[in-house]
Amino acid sequence: MRSAKNYPEVRGTRTGYMIRYTCPQCILENVIVNNSPKDHFKGERTVSCRSCRTRITVLTPKYGA
Ligand SMILES: [Zn+2]
Repeated sequence: MRSAKNYPEVRGTRTGYMIRYTCPQCILENVIVNNSPKDHFKGERTVSCRSCRTRITVLTPKYGA
């Protein structure tokens, strides 16, 4: 079983309560909408591309950093 650390990492950008990132596999821009500040402000999250389903670790700098 692969761990989350093996997923490709991309840097996301925060806009309001959304995080945008570009899939490294198919170059599609994806948007994550966060429902809670706890999710929004954590430094990384694992997501799947909505187009190609590639699992990706999206990194965002800590708020205020
Ligand atoms: Zn993709």
